[in-house]
Amino acid sequence: MPYIQFLGAAGTVTGSKHLVNTTNDSSGKQGFQLLIDCGLFQGQKEWRERNWQDTPVPAREIEAVALTHAHLDHCGWIPRLVKEGFRGPIYATQATIDLCSVVLPDSGHLQEEDAAFYNKKGASKHKPALPLYTLEEAQDCLRYFKPVEIEKTIQLCPELSFCYVRAAHILGSCMAEITLKTNGQARRLLFTGDIGRVRDSQVAPGKVVHYGPQEGESADVLVMESTYGNREHPHTDPRPELAQLIRDTVGRGGSVVVPAFAVERTQKFLFILKALMESGEIPRVPVYCDSPMAIKAVEIYMKHSEEYTPRAAELIKKYGSPTGWPGFTFALTGEQSKKINDSQFPSIIISSSGMAAGGRILHHLAQRLPDPRNLVLFIGFQAPGTRGAIIKEGAHEVKIFGEFIPIRAQVAALEQFSDHADPPELLEWLRTLKAQPGVTYLVHGEPQAASQLREVLKKELGWNVQVAEYLEMVDVK
Ligand SMILES: [Zn+2]
Repeated sequence: MPYIQFLGAAGTVTGSKHLVNTTNDSSGKQGFQLLIDCGLFQGQKEWRERNWQDTPVPAREIEAVALTHAHLDHCGWIPRLVKEGFRGPIYATQATIDLCSVVLPDSGHLQEEDAAFYNKKGASKHKPALPLYTLEEAQDCLRYFKPVEIEKTIQLCPELSFCYVRAAHILGSCMAEITLKTNGQARRLLFTGDIGRVRDSQVAPGKVVHYGPQEGESADVLVMESTYGNREHPHTDPRPELAQLIRDTVGRGGSVVVPAFAVERTQKFLFILKALMESGEIPRVPVYCDSPMAIKAVEIYMKHSEEYTPRAAELIKKYGSPTGWPGFTFALTGEQSKKINDSQFPSIIISSSGMAAGGRILHHLAQRLPDPRNLVLFIGFQAPGTRGAIIKEGAHEVKIFGEFIPIRAQVAALEQFSDHADPPELLEWLRTLKAQPGVTYLVHGEPQAASQLREVLKKELGWNVQVAEYLEMVDVK
């Protein structure tokens, strides 16, 4: 009987990897093995150590990868898979491939930096500490990527085909809809990847990608994310509050510092700022986008007009690419980045990393946190223990570059910018399914989030819902 094995994002939100095998018959005939996503484990050490373990089936025996989107927790293990002998095609939308060509080499670079750091400190039990993969290895794996158009069926083998449908999570993101034909029976497996917000632009403003998750899907087996399984987004428009915060900060002569992920969140925020400036809701102060990856991502966004919301399309038509907007400066080099520190005039500085774990945001925070006129604004999730969480929770000081920096700046957070659907939004989407799936497996959620969402789905829909466990194998009946 064909089976699915959950190789990651089970019990956690990272390391997405799900193996579909068309047969597990014991006669020795290996079925076709397809991996849906190939993500990096991130966060606590217990999870990160799994990045060093081999896949349960040898990488060279996996025939193909179908990638849902370009976030590292879904694609960041691909260079390692290739390093371990995988040589098949990696299917993805062109926008996902373009983003991966930026995101994966950057990840390789960070892996090399980490290894160098451990070697210098002598902190690793491995001598010498090696990177999980290098920048060069990450670049090399890009040749296995094959672009796939949305809603175009790819026949992988006589038993297995798949097609992508829109997930509306980030640029290029999609769900993988798999058709499995064995023993004269056809079954539909739907792997959601990460699911974007509803179409309501008041509740989830600033979406660059147009399509809400594809409606009217059907599935015998549904494998669904549960990141926000136990949390709801505020159901208010964040823009009036955002505008007020910016006006107040500028009014007292301060600057706004925004830690933001380089892909998607930064672009979304730039579009919102532009719209607020054009409508006169915030003053036209200089905006600095200080992240080389964010700038490359902006260029990729400009290439993929098929993904825009009408609002984003309208803004681009009227004002062109953000890289050419007057008053918006994109700092590519380290020198340009440092020059932003000299600016005493009120400004808005957007930089990564989004949780202030590293990157250029650190020197902006070190410089601006001690001044009460400034505002540090969080527009993304801050994982417990990160610098971002420490600042957000109201600490009086935070360690940056080995020094304790006093926090006197105003600190605020807007929670509406998430790119994941919350339970009411998931229900809204699930109710569009043509029929009840035979079984639903929840992945990509902390244990509490997944189990709470299971209860909600059982109660509201009466479905058969299970929480996937790490390495668990389930038959596709
Ligand atoms: Zn994602």
